Amino acid sequence: MSKPLVALLTGAGVSTDSGIPDYRGPNGLWRSDPDAEKLVTYAYYMGDPEIRRRSWRMRRENAARAPEPNAAHRAVTELERSGAAAVRVITQNVDGLHQRAGMPDRKVLELHGSVRGVVCTECQARSPMEDALARVDAGEDDPPCRECGGVLKPATVMFGEALDPMVLGEAAAISKACTVFAAVGTSLQVHPAAGLAGLAADHGARLIVVNAEPTPYDDRADEVIREPIGTALPGLLRRISA
Ligand code: ZN
Repeated sequence: MSKPLVALLTGAGVSTDSGIPDYRGPNGLWRSDPDAEKLVTYAYYMGDPEIRRRSWRMRRENAARAPEPNAAHRAVTELERSGAAAVRVITQNVDGLHQRAGMPDRKVLELHGSVRGVVCTECQARSPMEDALARVDAGEDDPPCRECGGVLKPATVMFGEALDPMVLGEAAAISKACTVFAAVGTSLQVHPAAGLAGLAADHGARLIVVNAEPTPYDDRADEVIREPIGTALPGLLRRISA
């Protein structure tokens, strides 16, 4: 018998225990500071050098805080290493904490990109975020692309940008093929990511929702868990691997 394939769709709730704010949540930054949303909106970012300078400063401060993976990230890695199941993570988070917790890069699909890299908006050249931040430290307040001089942005999907169709296609394939699909710490309100839960259920996966608040997919779920993720997820994943 082949191993069960466990797909985990993870959202902001998985990283809040690592001190990363849920920007969209009820106490989110974008509610308290509407201007902050401009920092991650493509048209503002491209059109206003001051927005870019502010955004680089903010990333530099965030990098200095260096969030650590928490119990939820570690539990996912443990399940993968136990060999009891094939594990794929589909994440809406851009923090790279699943990989920091030991998940292999190839097993993590980052729907909204990653803050670990930067990309040129002209020639699409990619480079590490730390190199760009080193240039900011050295006094370049809006470092241009070294290849072509174009505007650099973090390798995240900003508002006004489309998701990478390759990544989305892979996520859909995993959702169709998996035995268990657990949506963890996501409100399942943002499409197309949310639709993956329905896709998985349509193709026969056991659908599990782990989230503090109700989601539009709770009615379709085989199991809904409302406990805090840091305690609920390790228990759930141990059960899956047993
Ligand atoms: Zn370039």
